[in-house]
Amino acid sequence: MPIREILQLGNPLLLKKSLQVDDCTSSEVSSLIRDMSDTLAAFREAHGYGRGIAAVQIGVLQRVIFIRMQPAGFCSALINPEITWASAARMELWDDCFSFPDLMVKVERARQIKVAYFDSSGQPQALEADGPLSELLQHEIDHLDGILAIERAIAPTAFATRREWNRQLATK
Ligand SMILES: [Zn+2]
Repeated sequence: MPIREILQLGNPLLLKKSLQVDDCTSSEVSSLIRDMSDTLAAFREAHGYGRGIAAVQIGVLQRVIFIRMQPAGFCSALINPEITWASAARMELWDDCFSFPDLMVKVERARQIKVAYFDSSGQPQALEADGPLSELLQHEIDHLDGILAIERAIAPTAFATRREWNRQLATK
């Protein structure tokens, strides 16, 4: 079960644009997806949270994300995902990221989106997402363009350490 190291904020690779995957069913892509799934599961086991990961976070500049909503729900690899529609309705939320696990950042995202992607058998798929799944997909797809949640902060002061956030903001 290959659990990979998660790149941390400051690693220049996190700011790079990932490349389109040509062959969704290649053995490289299959083992990449397996590693992403295992790494996500291990992070969740260790930290108690974590629902999605982008390939670049384990150092692979390919347009692949892996989502596992908890406790049950949408679970899939999304290859070459693209947002094809976003609602005008927006929402504000506190976001976090495996690449800076102790930092919370308040961002604004579209409430609903539609995403087109390819699954791991190379089949085209479409998904309509609302709320938590919508903001998670926007976070992970941003990673593929080298955009981190800190760039989406709604204000220069819209940050909190996780400890302080747990202490005061989570109760509001
Ligand atoms: Zn992230």
